[in-house]
Amino acid sequence: MKLENTVKPQIKNLPVYETGKPIEYVAREFGLDPDGILKMASNENPLGASPKAVEAVSKHLGTLNYYPDGGCYELRQKLSKKWNLKPSQFAFGNGSNEILEFIAQCFVDRGDETVFGAQSFIVYKLATIFMGGKCVSVPMPDLKYDLDALRDAVTDKTKIVFMTNPNNPTGCVVKQSEVENFVRSLPEHVVFCYDEAYTEYQDEQVDLRPLIAEGRNVICLRTFSKIYGLAGLRIGYSYSSEELAGYINRVREPFNVNSLAQVGAMAALDDAEFVAESKRINDAGRKQFVEAFEKNGLTYFSDGANFVMVRVKDAQRVFVEMQKRGVIVRPNAGYGLPEWLRITIGKPEQNARCIDELLKFAK
Ligand SMILES: *Cc1c(COP(=O)(O)O)cnc(C)c1O
Repeated sequence: MKLENTVKPQIKNLPVYETGKPIEYVAREFGLDPDGILKMASNENPLGASPKAVEAVSKHLGTLNYYPDGGCYELRQKLSKKWNLKPSQFAFGNGSNEILEFIAQCFVDRGDETVFGAQSFIVYKLATIFMGGKCVSVPMPDLKYDLDALRDAVTDKTKIVFMTNPNNPTGCVVKQSEVENFVRSLPEHVVFCYDEAYTEYQDEQVDLRPLIAEGRNVICLRTFSKIYGLAGLRIGYSYSSEELAGYINRVREPFNVNSLAQVGAMAALDDAEFVAESKRINDAGRKQFVEAFEKNGLTYFSDGANFVMVRVKDAQRVFVEMQKRGVIVRPNAGYGLPEWLRITIGKPEQNARCIDELLKFAK
């Protein structure tokens, strides 16, 4: 049976998202003890999960026979208070990744265009192609956003402009006034999808709620996977106008966010101490990496977020050699950056081990 001509062409040709390599894979491939492997490849929180979230999740294990609350009522109320927005302005996803797909499902049809930075989160591309849309990928000189070029790429066919700030994988940061001016320059038919996955790691956070209040087509995405340490639970949310949130609610499946994720997310929101400690460890770790890169004359990027990018001679080789020694980092060939490695910032001793192994092969 040949499905080749039955499958949609955009699915047949869809590039596969390469995730950070799981510890168990590396252990099997190189014959290593999984306990000794250090994964710094997926921007996971090195402190683990928020302890309050872990406690709340454990307490709810007895309710797994019930379907979750499809409307995420309690979490929605809590976020509504936190952000001073209406409960109906939120939408929830099995990770914010799922919300990115919902946004593409809502707005992108065959032939429609989306605009994003060439070295920006690969899911923007995948979600667009999935819907039969056309990706307009805008060059990022010095691996930073070129907002004028991004604006110039917007046409009558553009449905969505995606932006991550700080950007993944390059870590570059755009300021509040720059984002605001950019959004105000967009035509009314365009949705601006603003991905805030790493915003909590910054000292100052961009706030686009005023633009939403003004009636701009802005949707902001947040995740519990990064600073809250809940990547395994799969939960993220968006806030936008009620209208936009309403469209997203039409395409999601009724129980897309599981019950433990909802409970864990609520507890994590109350865990200010864990969030503060995660940021503190991250700030210190960034300094540690930057000092090592400076001292050894390596080119790097590290403006925001919980990772650094460093340029090495042969990133694929360094990636493999480091794995043999039990350290997993992330190559970026998929982003057209074959000389760069992305490294998630860890605890001091983890960073030291990573730097040690990296320096053996970097030049
Ligand atoms: C990690 C990340 C997310 C969050 O993904 P989840 O699906 O919520 O785990 C979203 N956007 C970017 C740019 C990311 O790096």
